[in-house]
Amino acid sequence: MGSLASKEDHPGELKSFASLREEMVERNIAARGVRDELVLGAMRKVPRELFLPKNLREFAYEDSPLPIAGGQTVSQPYIVAFMAESLLLKGGEKILEIGAGSGYAAAVLSEIAAQVYTVERLGQLADKAAATLADLAYDDVRVLHGDGTRGWLEHSPYDAIVVTAGGPQVPESLKAQLKIGGRLVIPVGADQRVQELVRVTRVSENEYRSEDIADVRFVPLIGEEGWAIAKEGEARARVRGALRRFLRKRKRWSGTSPTQRNRAHRLRGLISIP
Ligand code: SAM
Repeated sequence: MGSLASKEDHPGELKSFASLREEMVERNIAARGVRDELVLGAMRKVPRELFLPKNLREFAYEDSPLPIAGGQTVSQPYIVAFMAESLLLKGGEKILEIGAGSGYAAAVLSEIAAQVYTVERLGQLADKAAATLADLAYDDVRVLHGDGTRGWLEHSPYDAIVVTAGGPQVPESLKAQLKIGGRLVIPVGADQRVQELVRVTRVSENEYRSEDIADVRFVPLIGEEGWAIAKEGEARARVRGALRRFLRKRKRWSGTSPTQRNRAHRLRGLISIP
């Protein structure tokens, strides 16, 4: 791809990204209750800035979702960590992710798992995610352009499946591609805008146990076993809504530095993205 910053190009910049990343993990992830050392270790390693468009890299370690192509978002780091923890990983698993987006969450998972398979319905995102992951030598991640509501049968069964978009119900194809004992974490809701994060565990060949674990907001899961279409004009509104919610939260925080306030001000500018 050739456009990624390397240590040689910007040694100072990468060092400061590393310390921002460390701060983010402590303040926004560990302090908010994520305890799994495998997940915290993975979040400390993956350079989120390199999965973002260049003009957004300075916001990489704000705990906010950020816009990418196709009206989609890179999820908020806290939710990436929370979902990874919810998969109850021990290390060395085979994981399926639905909704590759930028490829960031797949990279985080691959720091823990042996193999990560990720499916993305938008071709431009699938291509970009595959290129970024290859540039960063995430060789254990494979990207497929397709409808992830049908899973990725060829590599099934999986120890864990994570869906990073919200569907109207749990896709039967995904349940069927879980190993016995495997976990599926997916946002589910009757409304395209809000969901319950659900963990489904395959208890036996025909038995599944389901638990509600959090209230969340994700972009819609579009496909044969998801929503038929996204509501017109909602994609950008959703990205703007996510940024607005983040900035409202940010306003309430006390003790933020001038640099952070400045960054928040520029982030506010993103709300007016056409
Ligand atoms: N995990 C991503 C990351 O780290 O950048 C963020 C994912 S974004 C919140 C959700 C993604 O799910 C979008 O890129 C969207 O195009 C994708 N998506 C929606 N429906 C899908 C489907 N049926 N199959 C595969 N991907 C889908």
